[in-house]
Formats: sequence, C-alpha cells, structure tokens
Amino acid sequence: MACAIALNDLTVAYQGHPAVHHVSGGFTPGSLTAIVGPNGAGKSTLLAAIAGLRAPTSGQVVFGPDYVAPGAVALLAQLSSMNPDFPLRVLEVVAMGAWVRVGAFGALGATERSAISHALHQVGLEGFEDRLVDELSVGQLQRVLFARLIVQNAPIILLDEPFSALDAATTRDLLSVIKDWQRAGRTVVAVLHNFDMVRAHFPQTLLMARELVAWGPTEQALSTENLEQAQQRSLAWQDSASWCAAPGSRERHIHEHKGH
Ligand code: ADP
Ligand code: MG
Repeated sequence: MACAIALNDLTVAYQGHPAVHHVSGGFTPGSLTAIVGPNGAGKSTLLAAIAGLRAPTSGQVVFGPDYVAPGAVALLAQLSSMNPDFPLRVLEVVAMGAWVRVGAFGALGATERSAISHALHQVGLEGFEDRLVDELSVGQLQRVLFARLIVQNAPIILLDEPFSALDAATTRDLLSVIKDWQRAGRTVVAVLHNFDMVRAHFPQTLLMARELVAWGPTEQALSTENLEQAQQRSLAWQDSASWCAAPGSRERHIHEHKGH
C-alpha cells in the first residue's frame, strides 16, 4: 500500500544544526500515530516539514496520490493563540477552515454553514458562534480550533501538543474527535507527552531524538530500551532535556535516573 506520507532520509536544519536528522519511514493511510521525544527532539520541526512550512535541508516528504490536493494537510500548531488586538468571533475562526474551498472573501453557502454548525456541535460549542475568541478559556479556544480542523476536512491532520494545558473534560472531548477522524479514515499524527494516553489510544508511535529512535506499534516503540536511548541521545544536545511523563507512570525512573 502506498504511504499517505513518506519521509525519505529527511533532514531539516536550522543554520546548519539538524533538528530532524536522516529520518525515513512512512505513515500509512488511515493510521493514527503519536510523535514522542524529549524537548528539542525536532517534533515540531518534523510536523512543519510535513505541512510544507519548512523546506527539507536534504531528503524529501512525499505524499501518496490521494494526498496531493491543495488543503490535503491540516496543521494545528503548538501553543495556538489568537491575536487579541484583532477580535474575531468563533464563527469567523471556524469558517477559516473552509477557506481552501470558498476563498478568503467568498460567501459561505448553506453547505459550509451546516458544516460549521456540525463542527461546533461536535466540539460542544453550540451557541458560541458570536463569542469573541479572546474571551474564551484555553480549553474553549482549543475546541474552536478543533472545530476549524473539522470544517477543513483534510485527509491528513497534524496536531502539535493538542492537549497541553487542557483540563480533563476538554482533553476527553477532543480525544474523541481524534477517534472520529480515525474511524473516518483520516491519517492523524499528534505530538504528545502523556505516555499513558499514547499507549491507550495511539496504535502507532514515532519516537525521535532528532534522529529516529523507533517507529512502529506503540508498545514496541515505547520500550524501556528505546526510551532510554532517546534520553541518552538528547543529553548530547540539551542538558535539561526531560520527559513530561505523568507522575507515577512507568517512565518515571528515567527522571529519577537523571536526578530530577
Ligand atoms: P520539539 O518540538 O521536539 O521540542 P523543535 O522542533 O521545536 O523540537 O526544535 C528542535 C531544535 O531546533 C531545538 O534545538 C530548537 O531550539 C531548534 N529550533 C526550532 N525552531 C527553530 C528556529 N526557528 N530557528 C532556530 N532553531 C530552531
Ligand atoms: Mg515542539
């Protein structure tokens, strides 16, 4: 089967320093993959390269034939925030998801309006259409951004730390949106820190520390040996690198090993 996304010896460097180094492998169509690695491991850079926002220094990102149309890749960036000097309403932000289809100044037809209503319903924000986004809580804002992704309707969805700083209820609701995407055959890739969540909900894991450490079924990829290897590699480039595993999880000994 052709990959949805193939990485061919991909290297992405900043001023000569590789953040993603000789990474090869593929995301199969319809796969749900967690990207895991220490701080500074190149996870965000990898997503930016897949989204076309960063050019490879060498190697390539190659999309399967069903994934080359404009708007085929949707990215939710890390630490999303809205510019408070430019007040937007929830409806306007969610409607941005339809830009690829209607253009920035195109009128929204009945189909698009109904897609927006459905998306707001799916993220639990019915009735929020006219609220200003800078008046929303962090969790509500992330719900809005997920609604925008739903409207965008892209076959490949990239999420960079989508649950950082979110409360349990929002995390649960947005995880269920991800599961719906998986059931609908979307190819979903999410940078995550919570190993318990990755093990429970993400069948595939890509573990990286600038170089690839492991990529495959989650339980194998997140073996103790692989996690220690990733940690060891990270020591070479960042003294303070640490895993953000939930307290009490199996990875805690890696913190303790480092004296955290
Ligand atoms: P992660 O998301 O895994 O924490 P990043 O991809 O954000 O890692 O960063 C990987 C490395 O690249 C880090 O050392 C980071 O400092 C560096 N880096 C990231 N973005 C830039 C940039 N715009 N300019 C220079 N260096 C960067
Ligand atoms: Mg990052």
